[in-house]
Amino acid sequence: MEHAAVLVTIGNELLSGLTVDTNSAFLARGLASIGLKVRMKLSAADSIPEIVHALHLAEQQGTVILLSGGLGPTSDDCTKPALAERYGRPLIFYPHVMEAVQAHFRRLGRTMPEINRNQALLPERSTLLPNAFGTAWGIWIEEGGKHIIALPGVPFELKPMFTEQVLPRLQQKLPPSPLLSRTLHIFGMGESAIAERIADIERSLPPAISLAYLPHYSVVRLRLTGSSPDADALRNQMHEAEQNLLHRLGDAVFGFDDTSLEAELGKALRAAGKSIAVAESCTGGALAARIVSVAGASDYFPGSIVAYANEVKQHLLDVPADLIGQYGAVSEAVVQAMLNGLLQRIPADYGAAISGIAGPDGGTAEKPVGTVWIATGSRANRQARRFQFRGNRNDVIEYAVMNALGLLLQQVRAGS
Ligand code: AMP
Ligand code: MG
Repeated sequence: MEHAAVLVTIGNELLSGLTVDTNSAFLARGLASIGLKVRMKLSAADSIPEIVHALHLAEQQGTVILLSGGLGPTSDDCTKPALAERYGRPLIFYPHVMEAVQAHFRRLGRTMPEINRNQALLPERSTLLPNAFGTAWGIWIEEGGKHIIALPGVPFELKPMFTEQVLPRLQQKLPPSPLLSRTLHIFGMGESAIAERIADIERSLPPAISLAYLPHYSVVRLRLTGSSPDADALRNQMHEAEQNLLHRLGDAVFGFDDTSLEAELGKALRAAGKSIAVAESCTGGALAARIVSVAGASDYFPGSIVAYANEVKQHLLDVPADLIGQYGAVSEAVVQAMLNGLLQRIPADYGAAISGIAGPDGGTAEKPVGTVWIATGSRANRQARRFQFRGNRNDVIEYAVMNALGLLLQQVRAGS
């Protein structure tokens, strides 16, 4: 059978929701990078019987069982006694671990609290993984062809231990079974429209390949994942599936794998040697923030104007007061005037202007909460569109930002 992994995160705080489990997402991505699929994720409370129970379940599903959390010195942490019980490896005292823990406290200039002697008590017959940033060493137990690996829960301790110690060793110990994935990013089409458009392609995918829809506001990521022992055949099948999807979805696909609208917009502007400025009302700078989240944005982004109040729209963007009076701040005429004023004030090749009602108050029958006007374009070629977004205030802002980025990307790519 193909090797698979099971993740077991441990901690009462994960079950109560007080801490969001980010470790398992990190671990799953890392395992995928060496071709190991996660078949199941479990979360167990800080309790020996519960952890032992989770280990039983995990053993039925995976060759690699990766635990995070519960390795601290305090009495609430009980991953070690659970491992000791399940795998018949009593906790014994490891002097070299004790020395390392003492050295850790010396480096911090602190005396070691007595309770940390517990950190040197670890299961016998295990490989111990040093922790450069804390006192909880990792544990690797091999039992019945399975690998049971426990790491501390603190993300900045777990991450380097996993990347530098666990992954390379797993790669040595397990023969690879290739896992390929390709992600297509789509703007301007909803999830169900995409599903309809590609229904026949999806039906005829080979069994080794699966397709996932991952919508996030106005972008849908389509992820192809393929897993098969025959790497060459899989590569060909993946390529064919991707080509079929691209052919069918056309320009709606704006990027691949790890990308975003803002990253692609940056690339397109850079390639064209063009710049962009933005004027924002209801998004309050969120669009500008997204643009500058891309490193090197200073090459194509001179700046933005946040014009929240009508007076600021008048004074900084030269929007005529009577236009606002006649049509309202959320109107085609006003976003067009904002874009005009913006491109006068900040001489950029492209611009976007946004004005809308993010809510929860301020909606009317004619312009309900979620009404947003977005104007985009260059001096020569502009468009304005009205959107009706759903959701709360943050959702409306996020939708507006993504649609402005998407429209800009289309225009910059078209060179219009
Ligand atoms: P522990 O190793 O159980 O002492 O965990 C120490 C701390 O790491 C916890 O208090 C959490 O803040 C954090 N932590 C534990 N498990 C996770 C997880 N799965 N994802 C993110 N943070 C975690
Ligand atoms: Mg804990």
